[in-house]
Amino acid sequence: MIVQKFGGTSMGSAQSICENVAPIVERAARAEQAPVVVVSAMSGVTSQLLEAARKSVEEHIVPEALLGEIKKRHLDVLDGLQGGKQLIAAASAAISSDLGELANLLRALTVVGDLSARSYDAVLAVGEKLSAQLMACVLSVRGMNAEYVNLEKIIPEKLTYDSDAYWDKVEGYFRERVEKVARGVIPVLTGFFGPCDGGMLSAVGRGYSDYCASLAGAALKVSEIQIWTDVDGVLSANPKVVPEAFILERLSFDETAELAHFGAKVLHPFSVRPAVNAGIPLRVLNTFNPGCAGTWIENSTCSLNLPIKSVTSKKGVTLIRISTPLMLFAHGYLAKITDVFGRHRVSVDLVASSEVSVSFSVDGPLEPDGTFLQELRALGEVHIEHKQAIVSLVGVELKTDYSVPARAFEILAREKICVRMISMGDARINLSLVVDEPQCDRTVQMLHRALFR
Ligand code: ASP
Ligand code: MG
Repeated sequence: MIVQKFGGTSMGSAQSICENVAPIVERAARAEQAPVVVVSAMSGVTSQLLEAARKSVEEHIVPEALLGEIKKRHLDVLDGLQGGKQLIAAASAAISSDLGELANLLRALTVVGDLSARSYDAVLAVGEKLSAQLMACVLSVRGMNAEYVNLEKIIPEKLTYDSDAYWDKVEGYFRERVEKVARGVIPVLTGFFGPCDGGMLSAVGRGYSDYCASLAGAALKVSEIQIWTDVDGVLSANPKVVPEAFILERLSFDETAELAHFGAKVLHPFSVRPAVNAGIPLRVLNTFNPGCAGTWIENSTCSLNLPIKSVTSKKGVTLIRISTPLMLFAHGYLAKITDVFGRHRVSVDLVASSEVSVSFSVDGPLEPDGTFLQELRALGEVHIEHKQAIVSLVGVELKTDYSVPARAFEILAREKICVRMISMGDARINLSLVVDEPQCDRTVQMLHRALFR
């Protein structure tokens, strides 16, 4: 059994659903891989739904035109299908009815004027309910045995989050629900799943259908989770910055987490957690170029025949340096500083310390006279540098190829790029540097060129 998750762009048009997505599922079924399909909403629909909810609550209007647009987009896909009249009629009716219910809910929201997590979830769920019904219908009309599986109600409302055991229970509900689908039938799951405690957006966030795929894969103990998207896989750099960037064959989960954290558009580490815990590999594949092998992401470390795997970067970073002679020979000093970060919920990316000063990198600008900085100033002399960028060299190869840092710094020196901060932990899978933001892209290009020559 495998999970095949299709993102918003893959589900974006009649053409891609019928000519790209459906054949991919059919091939897997024919190869007896027993695919379990998970779909996102059609591209843009989740954002439209959020906007509709906002308009209803804040402006007290139900955006009928927007709902009409969403309806037309889905029904147009069905209209373009050949044959299967009854199946199409049933799916059209179900889609229209879901949108009718949504209009009622939005109408109620215009009166209530308040958006609870529960109502938010009910609005969001519609995007995936529509796309999953569409997908199940398309597969059925093409002669496959497919069944729409709405996960909207699988989590009991009273189940509250107390620890990670919560997600184990959720996995159990996934298993129970999908096991009800008869053998030989392809389940088409809504990427939206049930009322999570606190609401989907705060419990998981946007892109929740990746998490759904990962939960489904772990619950069903599949052999592989395929994430079908619109790029060929995870690349060695952002191709907009480095045109010669290439696809990485393999990555470990740890490397994926480092890349996601430092700006690469890969899977969110949270979304792959169930797969990591269950030891199930993921594969990032391109719906529009299915022949390309994509990127394997697995639990084990995998050294490629490369100096590192990827050069990634993140802009809009601020450096905070705190200096004080009190730090010399002291203990507990760092704890006092990090306590201030913790209380103000300022999240730190990089840390580098010397005997009398410590530097942190954080996202975004800081309020110059906010209480956060005031409290830090009470602990030492504080120096702030805005408009910085983190450039990271990521790869488990750093553990074995000792020449990488030397080669990196040599090229930076030659290019007269000033490095303001350096950080590499003993995990040795990420060497991060901070440079002035205007130098960021050039630094990435130089390092990529020098290391992958
Ligand atoms: N459609 C949802 C979103 O845009 C979920 C997903 O695409 O994964 O966040
Ligand atoms: Mg996504």
